Amino acid sequence: MRATITRYKMLNYNDTIAIAVSGGKDSISLLHVLAGMERKFPRASLFTITVDEGIKGYRDEALNIAVKTCQDLGIKNHVVSFKALYGFTLDEMVLRMRERKSALTPCAFCGVLRRKALNVGALAVGANKIATAHTLDDEVQTLLLNIFHGDVSRLASEKPVTDQVHPLLVQKVKPFCEIPEKESALYAYVKGLDFQSTPCPYASEAMRNDIRLLLNQMEERHAGTKFTVFKSIEKLRPVLGSIAEKSEFKECKQCGSPAVGDLCMACQLLNQIL
Ligand code: SF4
Ligand code: ZN
Repeated sequence: MRATITRYKMLNYNDTIAIAVSGGKDSISLLHVLAGMERKFPRASLFTITVDEGIKGYRDEALNIAVKTCQDLGIKNHVVSFKALYGFTLDEMVLRMRERKSALTPCAFCGVLRRKALNVGALAVGANKIATAHTLDDEVQTLLLNIFHGDVSRLASEKPVTDQVHPLLVQKVKPFCEIPEKESALYAYVKGLDFQSTPCPYASEAMRNDIRLLLNQMEERHAGTKFTVFKSIEKLRPVLGSIAEKSEFKECKQCGSPAVGDLCMACQLLNQIL
């Protein structure tokens, strides 16, 4: 992972880093690894951000694990809840989506709102970097999802270190982007780390699940497939960037956040369930 951080120039010696910690194995592993590294850089600061979507019977356990792990490591944990930020828990949003027969899945909603919540949390603690625990598997699945959806702009912008496109959008880095999920899990098991293993009750991204299965089958038959796809897109990215649509940022008319149109994505979604 150190090689990945160095190769992509992800972190500086004096960064204030907000680690996105959900309480799952990948984020708990990343927290432990970065906490160990940070001790050697006295001018760097670490915080963790945990997003509480408000998923009854699921998020509470993960939150407890995240809070306890941070206490043990002496790292300040900042919780951002959907209820406080948006006025509804995800459970309440899903009820409203179902009443309105929305075609969107809970994950489509949650993904956008989580990204905004993370950014809000990172700004609140004064972070200049958000570190997420996306593994090689997550990254390659997302790359292929973007191809299957024909979303060239996202294919170009989803990268190990995101571009600094707006002063209010904190730059994201992905130190595990070259680490297979199996290795991140192995680290957590070998170190005896406490993490949440029950899946989210709304986890239902049908196409992502199909891609995960496909990639796992390919990897089993042709070792190195995931890494090859990842590296191929890396090489293509400069070309993709030149043909992708450039986004001009304005201020969201509803919440004031950076937005590509009149409303940010989060407000557009929330308006569908009001
Ligand atoms: Fe949100 Fe979907 Fe993840 Fe559950 S699985 S936390 S609904 S993005
Ligand atoms: Zn908005």
